[in-house]
Amino acid sequence: MGPPEPAPDPVNQAMIRHWVEAVGDRNPVYVDAEAAAASVHGQVVAPPVMLQAWAMRGLRPRPPAGGTAQDELMALLDEAGFTSVVATNCEQDYDRYLHIGDHLSAAAVIESVSDEKGTALGPGHFVTTRITYTDQHGERVASMLFRILKFRPPQPAGAGSGGKGEEGAQPRPRRPRPALTQDNAFFFEGAHQGRLLIQRCASCLRLRHPPRPMCPHCRSLEWDTVEAGGRGSVYSYVINHHPQVPAFDYPLVIALVELEEGTRLVSDLVGVDPGEVQVGMAVEVDFVAFDDELTLPVFRPVAAG
Ligand SMILES: [Zn+2]
Repeated sequence: MGPPEPAPDPVNQAMIRHWVEAVGDRNPVYVDAEAAAASVHGQVVAPPVMLQAWAMRGLRPRPPAGGTAQDELMALLDEAGFTSVVATNCEQDYDRYLHIGDHLSAAAVIESVSDEKGTALGPGHFVTTRITYTDQHGERVASMLFRILKFRPPQPAGAGSGGKGEEGAQPRPRRPRPALTQDNAFFFEGAHQGRLLIQRCASCLRLRHPPRPMCPHCRSLEWDTVEAGGRGSVYSYVINHHPQVPAFDYPLVIALVELEEGTRLVSDLVGVDPGEVQVGMAVEVDFVAFDDELTLPVFRPVAAG
C-alpha cells in the first residue's frame, strides 16, 4: 500500500495508562513499574491488544493527492457503486510483548480483493489487508489481518436510481439475524415463543444479561433461565436518524430497558413519539414477528391507567 508508516509516538506509559483505564484492565504489569519488575516480564509491557493504537493514523486527513494504494482501491470501489463499508474480521498475532520506548512501524499490503459476493448487506467485495508491525531494529513484533466488506447499499424505496431501470421495486431487506451461540440461543428461542427469558446463575441465583458462559460473581458455569414479567423502565435511550439501514423504520428509538427483575437489555421502543421518550418511562414488553424466522421483544409505553 506504500512505504512503512512510522508510529507517531514510541510505546509510552501515558497512552498505556489511558487505554487500560478506558477498558477497565487493572493488571499491574501495564502500569506499575515495581509490580512489573517482579513479574515474568521484568518491566512494564503494553497490552498486546493495544497493538493498533501505536501506529494508527488518527484523525489527520490524508493529503488530497499522493494517497496510498488503499486510497486508490477505495476510490475505485466507490466509483463502481460499492460506497458502504463494514469491518468483518480482524486477527492479530503477537511475536513479543512491547516495552516502553519501542518505536513501531506499520507496513500494509493489500492481500486480496474478492470477487463480487452477495451478502445480507448487499453485493460487495471483501478487501483483506495484512499489516506487519516492526520495531526500531526492523524486527517483526506483530502482524494483523484486517478484512472489510465494501458493498453497494440497497436503494431506499422511491429513490431515483439514475436511470439504471431495475431498482425501486426491491422487497424490503430482512432485519439482520442475531449471531446465535450456545450461550444466547435460549433468549431468541424464548422470544420466538413470546417469552422474555433472563439467564440465571444456578449456583448463586443472580440474574445476568447479556447471556454469557460464566457467572461474574461466583464463576459458576451452571445456569438456567427465568421468565421475566415483561415490565420495566427506560434506563437510557438514543434516537437514531443516521445512518439508516433499510430493514428499520426511522427515526428509530433504541432503549436500554431496566427490567423489574434488575437486568437491562437493549431493545426497540415502539408506539411512542420519539419526542415523548423519557428516562424512567414505564414500559412493557411486546413481541414482534419481523418475518417467519425472527421474533424479537420490543417495548412500548405502559398504557395510562
Ligand atoms: Zn453465580
